[in-house]
Amino acid sequence: MNIRAQVSSVFHLDKCIGCHTCSIACKNIWTDRKGSEYMWWNNVETKPGTGYPSRWEDQRSYKGGWEKVGTQLRLKMGGRGGTLGKIFHNPHLPTMDDYYEPFTYKYEDLTHAAAGDDQPTARPISMVSGKPMEIEAGPNWDDDLSGSNIYAANDPGVLKLSAEEQAQMFAIEKMVMFYLPRICNHCVNAGCVAGCPSGAIYKRGEDGIVVISQDKCRGWRMCVSACPYKKTYYGWNTGKSEKCILCYPRQEAGEAPGCFHSCVGRIRYLGVLLYDADRIEEVAMREDADLAAAQRDMILDPFDPQVQAEARRAGIDAQVLDAAQRSPVYRFVKEWGIALPLHPEFRTLPMLFYVPPLLPVLSTEQQGTQKLADDFFTSLEQARLPIRYLAGLFAGGNEEEVKAVYRKLIAVRLQQRAQSVGDLDEGEVARAREQAQLSAEAVSAIYRITSLTRIEERIVIPPMLREQAIEAGVDTETHRQGMGFGSRRAPGRRW
Ligand code: SF4
Ligand code: SF4
Repeated sequence: MNIRAQVSSVFHLDKCIGCHTCSIACKNIWTDRKGSEYMWWNNVETKPGTGYPSRWEDQRSYKGGWEKVGTQLRLKMGGRGGTLGKIFHNPHLPTMDDYYEPFTYKYEDLTHAAAGDDQPTARPISMVSGKPMEIEAGPNWDDDLSGSNIYAANDPGVLKLSAEEQAQMFAIEKMVMFYLPRICNHCVNAGCVAGCPSGAIYKRGEDGIVVISQDKCRGWRMCVSACPYKKTYYGWNTGKSEKCILCYPRQEAGEAPGCFHSCVGRIRYLGVLLYDADRIEEVAMREDADLAAAQRDMILDPFDPQVQAEARRAGIDAQVLDAAQRSPVYRFVKEWGIALPLHPEFRTLPMLFYVPPLLPVLSTEQQGTQKLADDFFTSLEQARLPIRYLAGLFAGGNEEEVKAVYRKLIAVRLQQRAQSVGDLDEGEVARAREQAQLSAEAVSAIYRITSLTRIEERIVIPPMLREQAIEAGVDTETHRQGMGFGSRRAPGRRW
């Protein structure tokens, strides 16, 4: 057993209201600079939709993440030879059109216009050319356009559904949408780390946060290709790549990351997970449908005395162990099993997990108000959003994984409704709990952490112990070999 500690997250999608406050908080803190205008380390997409950059989930074009080739795991963009061959021309990178052409407005026209009869307007100006432009895209351009035949219909997940399922999704009365906030997943088997030819990207030993050394980055952009979530960005002013750093300077000061702190829906949970790094390769090699369960299985119980002893032997501080025991992420992912990784089939073992949205799936319209369908379990089979679509997002296509989560979320709603409205008998509630395989106490705990918790329970930040991390920052090339499977050895020749 080779235990590592990682600061990990859960986003509860039923609670996201799509306000984009998280994106703006992040932009104001980290990417409000020349050359980073188009970067949204945190973005919020409407699903079904094409997202940002456009169709990022389509690895047939972008070649991000890993693939199994025989008994080996290989970066989809190719091995070392493939990487070098693409240094001067990489056809798999997103183009500016896939992101969007950054723009501002000519505000001086409002304040300095000569007196006249007409109302002055501020025209959009390209931040690349400085010339007037027509805005045709933006980071959340398809916001709320779930039924659109440009955006929703071209969602790579929708295109995998049958014609019948697609028609059902786009029927006027059944149209449905939800929000998907995204940041870097700080993956255990990060494609960006393995893909970087300069050894500039590494996973911090003490908390698993993935960062790019700005001194070592040579701007080859292989990390942009290798990340299947497209969460590294090239800074055209600095010539270096950049990405979400999970606000580690804020965490070192005991503060929540900016997007977590500002989240209006309080959908974000942060906490430590312990995992067995000896199992990374074996887990990443599983069949698509088994990946979510295998990743959950790799996470260790911080209350187990054997795990505690091994963790201490591995140098994990007692304060970090304590934080792991109080981790809300552990409860969501492992104890209750209601949070799943996004696209586990990319095989990077992402450490941001999502509670899939229940309401858009099961709600029906009755006299102008949204209600949960009366027969919850039958509704699950005839969901407004096909379970197959959600399984494609959160479980490598395994519908049973998603259904198991929904049974638990339904049990929470029924038990709570019986208590607060009183129109359900205890037998019905007990049946729901039995189907969900949850105790009444567990259901109450899920309800409490979902709706009533304060920030101290939602965001449990471990002490950052900087004294243990300095070495990793100095020699990234050596340190990176100790993280996920597939990290390369130090190259013989340095650029
Ligand atoms: S999502 Fe994973 S692969 Fe992408 S930048 Fe983050 S750590 Fe790297
Ligand atoms: S701030 Fe929270 S609720 Fe608002 S869009 Fe972001 S994740 Fe959703």
